[in-house]
Amino acid sequence: MQKENFLPVIRDLTDWYGRKQLNTRQIEMWYQQFRNTALEPFQWACELWMRTQRNLPTPQQLRDLLVDYWKAHPEKRAREDKKRAICDECDSRGYFDVWYDGGQDSQGHQIWYNKALPCAMCNNWRRCGIFPPDVNKFWTQEQIINNGFVFENPALDRMDQGRVEADTLDELGEQATQRL
Ligand SMILES: [Zn+2]
Repeated sequence: MQKENFLPVIRDLTDWYGRKQLNTRQIEMWYQQFRNTALEPFQWACELWMRTQRNLPTPQQLRDLLVDYWKAHPEKRAREDKKRAICDECDSRGYFDVWYDGGQDSQGHQIWYNKALPCAMCNNWRRCGIFPPDVNKFWTQEQIINNGFVFENPALDRMDQGRVEADTLDELGEQATQRL
């Protein structure tokens, strides 16, 4: 997304919540967070946020929405996929959708955390729109398995007791927030 397209959207967002205009440095920080994101999903996330939330989002909260966007618009992802390099490691998606054991909540329910990990074998993750520009850890399938992640959502097998929550402490890059 070009900066000239980004600026009116972020100004609408801050206007909506009655905030003073962001200063140049703050705008630059926001832009750096979303420069790899296409305009259309970014606009979609901002508009959805304005319709449903009472406070200005953090960049992380918008990125969480973007993960939902790509899940809800597989045809757009397919269009983006065509622009990607062929990659056998990640099926050319650019990232891996993985789950890991998040322990138990206070009621004893098993929690599974879901996150997206960028592929180490291609640059297709740049087209995903869900990773910050400073993402610095990349993964192969083997590393993912060796680190105890799984590729299928374990909670789907036991909907009665499983649930998925966002991992807000993620330091590795990005995560998805699919709540089941
Ligand atoms: Zn790849």
